[in-house]
Amino acid sequence: MENRSPSLREKVKQLRRTFLDKLPGTLSEARRLCDQLVRAPSDSATLDDLYRTFHSIKGTGASFGLMEISAEGAGGEQLLLQLQGLEAGGRGAELAGMLPGLEARILRLEELLKLARDQDEATAEAPSFALSATAQQKAGKRVFICDDDELQAETLSAQLSCFGYAVNIFTNPDSMRSALLVAPPDAVVMDIVFPGGVNGTDVVANLQREMRAPPPVVFVSSRRDFEPRLRAVQAGGEAYFTKPVKAIELVEVLDSLTLGQEPEPFRVLVVDDEPEVAAYHSFILEQVGMTTRLLHEPSSILDVLAEFKPDLVLMDMYMPTCTGRDLSRLIRQVPEFISLPIVFLSSETNKVKQVSALRVGAEGFLTKPIQPEDLISAVAIRAERMRTLRSLMVRDSLTGLFNHTFMSQFLDTALAGVKREGGKLCFAMIDVDHFKSVNDTHGHPAGDQVLVALARLLQQRLRHSDMVGRYGGEEFAVILQDVGIEEARTIIDNLRADFAKVRFSAGDRDFSCSFSAGIAGFPAFVQADQIRESADQALYRAKKSGRNQVQVAQ
Ligand code: GH3
Ligand code: MG
Ligand code: MG
Repeated sequence: MENRSPSLREKVKQLRRTFLDKLPGTLSEARRLCDQLVRAPSDSATLDDLYRTFHSIKGTGASFGLMEISAEGAGGEQLLLQLQGLEAGGRGAELAGMLPGLEARILRLEELLKLARDQDEATAEAPSFALSATAQQKAGKRVFICDDDELQAETLSAQLSCFGYAVNIFTNPDSMRSALLVAPPDAVVMDIVFPGGVNGTDVVANLQREMRAPPPVVFVSSRRDFEPRLRAVQAGGEAYFTKPVKAIELVEVLDSLTLGQEPEPFRVLVVDDEPEVAAYHSFILEQVGMTTRLLHEPSSILDVLAEFKPDLVLMDMYMPTCTGRDLSRLIRQVPEFISLPIVFLSSETNKVKQVSALRVGAEGFLTKPIQPEDLISAVAIRAERMRTLRSLMVRDSLTGLFNHTFMSQFLDTALAGVKREGGKLCFAMIDVDHFKSVNDTHGHPAGDQVLVALARLLQQRLRHSDMVGRYGGEEFAVILQDVGIEEARTIIDNLRADFAKVRFSAGDRDFSCSFSAGIAGFPAFVQADQIRESADQALYRAKKSGRNQVQVAQ
């Protein structure tokens, strides 16, 4: 794994410089607020602003390793906290007593600022840590099939490609080995018995020794006895199939072997009125592959939440327009976001204030400055838990697809989005043809196998921004975003053609299935109900006109 900490260090340095560049402005603002407070000691708004100024110097200073600056900020914060504890009317006398102390801190901060700038950058102490990048690149999945029986390999390849795998066929192990060393695929399907006494398990065992990270291997063989199975396991084989291979079962194994490599990155919204602080925390999270969005202006939070769909919100406590506590309550009052994890990240060390923040439903409280590793694990644990919970709520248990409720809600939300911003959207209803007779002829488990296969086909072949759900029984729904009706027809029709090619097996009988689909979209239809109904009517027409076809609502 690549160690990316040098660039992180640079980034921190750069952010700290920005902080220092802004500090003179912050300090003169503090002076102005002091003067204003002397003129009107009972003005709580001014007092709060001044408090927040010192508080943020404390927190941000510490985040960037400027401990003396942070300490002066903390001293000022402490004085103002005392003042906040008094009746507004009785603050004047107290303020007069602490004014010299506040002014001295501002002066000292100006000195420290100068020192920090003069300091040689190389000796400047940035928080030190090392992070390893775990973010994986996304790519289409490639599979090598190595089998001397070319016809079998071709048949299997045709089936795998229906599920979105790009397949290369090799009829001899040497040519596969050369290709594999140059550009390893995501998985290998390997025959065992080759002409001339060459053994597939030996070939794989050698590759395992030669390569640092060999791709996962699945063996396929006509041998059903113990010996080749044992050798396959010893060579590191992940699965063993006897011929004729059932493509659906192979796809299931290949999916599980290749899916684990590309988890969807966690999405974190970082809310902080100070851009440098937000950028610093987001940078740490991005180093380990998370996707982040920065928000400095709380008033746009609802739009950002709807559009960015974070797994977690990292929230500052003190901001000029509103507190993190208020903002969290506001978020919690929107039904969609009721379970969204919110974690406070603040230099607030007062336990009472922390507890009061947690009471509005926040998931946790982290204190600045925070070690990058601690930030990462705190965020990852909570985001993961959220993902699991959410998937239990919105997923269908047989296919793992989104359920009816989720799809309906998503259509409503997505439709509101395209209406507001302009754009296209299509909704497709898909229904398996004569599915009842599949159950009747081949049994209910065989029917389930068909549903799972169709679910997988849809999921793999559509883009990430498209939503696939099981609408009920043998009905599926697909929401295609930014796609016009004719393009949608082509996409769904290609899926239809591929699905019809998939061979299923039940006992010793093979069979295939087809589906019919109806599509309706925005802007031709405007209301969600209209779209659903029109797609359903188009589906009905597809059934009436002979099934195994796609109809579009006009
Ligand atoms: P058409 O081409 O007109 O759609 O005919 P069809 O037979 O597919 O439609 P119909 O609605 O008459 O039958 C659907 C069948 O799907 C009936 C039901 O038993 C079956 N079914 C519903 N859910 C499941 C499931 O989860 N698993 C299995 N195996 N069958 C299911
Ligand atoms: Mg049906
Ligand atoms: Mg039906």
